[in-house]
Amino acid sequence: MRDIQHFVNGAAYAGAGSHSGEVFNPNTGEVQARVGFATVGDLDAAVQAAAAAQPGWAATNPQRRARVMFEFKRLVEARMEELAALLSSEHGKVIADSKGDIQRGLEVIEFACGIPHVLKGEYTEGAGPGIDVYSMRQPLGVAAGITPFNFPGMIPMWMFGIATAVGNTFVLKPSEKDPSLPVRLAELFMEAGAPAGVLNVVHGDKVAVDAILAHPLIKAVSFVGSSDIAHYIYSTGTANGKRVQAMGGAKNHGIILPDADLDQAVKDLIGAAYGSAGERCMALPVVVPVGAKTASALREKVLAEIDTLRPGASNDPAAQYGPVVSSAHKRKIEDYIQIGVDEGAELVVDGRGFSLQGYEKGFFIGPSLFDHVKPTMKTYQEEIFGPVLQIVHADTFEEALALPSEHQYGNGVAIFTRNGRAAREFAARVNVGMVGINVPIPVPVAYHTFGGWKRSAFGDTNQHGMEGVKFYTKVKTITARWPEGQQEDSAFVIPTMR
Ligand code: NAD
Repeated sequence: MRDIQHFVNGAAYAGAGSHSGEVFNPNTGEVQARVGFATVGDLDAAVQAAAAAQPGWAATNPQRRARVMFEFKRLVEARMEELAALLSSEHGKVIADSKGDIQRGLEVIEFACGIPHVLKGEYTEGAGPGIDVYSMRQPLGVAAGITPFNFPGMIPMWMFGIATAVGNTFVLKPSEKDPSLPVRLAELFMEAGAPAGVLNVVHGDKVAVDAILAHPLIKAVSFVGSSDIAHYIYSTGTANGKRVQAMGGAKNHGIILPDADLDQAVKDLIGAAYGSAGERCMALPVVVPVGAKTASALREKVLAEIDTLRPGASNDPAAQYGPVVSSAHKRKIEDYIQIGVDEGAELVVDGRGFSLQGYEKGFFIGPSLFDHVKPTMKTYQEEIFGPVLQIVHADTFEEALALPSEHQYGNGVAIFTRNGRAAREFAARVNVGMVGINVPIPVPVAYHTFGGWKRSAFGDTNQHGMEGVKFYTKVKTITARWPEGQQEDSAFVIPTMR
């Protein structure tokens, strides 16, 4: 059985821990590898390596750091097939989707290639007599990232791409469910020219996470995962004096106005609801048709599309989505489907009991569809994170606007309409962090920023773009005076630039 090791100070690191996790092949349900879990001491070894590498890395001029990013991007692109296959084999998403996962991460690396420009700082000449003021952004030191299973390529790159480009060194604690790709990325990052210790990967569970939150040398923690844990990370990390951004769960709505291009909207919706087996924080698991006519037309078209959906093995190019990540997650999704039935929603399509020939033990779930879901239902209020689409009816624009606005999560939302004025008003008023207008999965491009509202994110700064640069740097402002010879008297009042 393959053992997946940590990556510390530029080399595989076995660790002293006696605990390990099983890494499954979700297609077959078999255990394909073991991943050793870090002890507090293992985490400390990674932090010490990062701390030792940090001054030299920070002193490396920004264009040289950017050159590492350029080379890393080239190496990852050259190995895209191998990396996507590795990702799929542990996560279960189909290969094309794994390539998309890696590609979205690489776009953050592309942003990081321009870091010298971004780090230029500000300058005011002559802020007072002979006085100039300028500011610089400096790295924090060692930063850490804790990432979820569902984007093992993109989300680590969101974090270490920006953190290291600005001069920090990094300790990544990826999901223990699909830990191989992050290690491969760290190896390639070194091959691209990053010195040993700049990017370290430590596997583990709550022990490793708590060690990150307690370690005095870690100055910033970025987290992406479910909301309860995000809140725990935020409150514990900030109580320990760290800078923390913690992204949580989601329940994104797709609003269909009566004037929408329904055929296109349904195609978009099906991809966004069932793609990656619904295991995306920007999936659209809730659709809100406005008006009874829209609702019945929508239901009919959604049913026709579901009929054509083909879940399959992750390496089957004809499959639209693969198995979910684990048997525990499969059970949880199936339990939610039962709860939906029990609380009175209409289960129009039941994906439970789906079996794929040759992969009978795989973690597959067929597409499920609920109609007449009510906002009071548990299955509406909570995140299911599976291939389950829920139809919630609204009679008016205001009712549709209120649904995502009042939901506990506020990650993403999409509105489908041909009416620019309605879309504009919706975007301005909806209480959600990322909005799509006729765009089903509005994940912002890398040079903008990613972040939800309400229980979808704790902390003040988003991921990547300028928000990411701000998160991983601190500003120093210098006020410099070069007097021309004559002395001035002591001043006992606060200096002003008269
Ligand atoms: P998760 O919260 O179970 O795990 C995330 C990370 O936290 C993992 O590294 C895990 O090892 C660690 N962890 C798990 N239990 C812990 C505990 N008790 N204490 C400390 N650390 C712990 O999330 P997941 O199942 O891997 O990922 C799915 C979730 O992530 C969904 O809720 C999804 O919406 C969310 N997500 C959010 C975003 C976003 O940007 N808002 C993006 C992707 C995924």
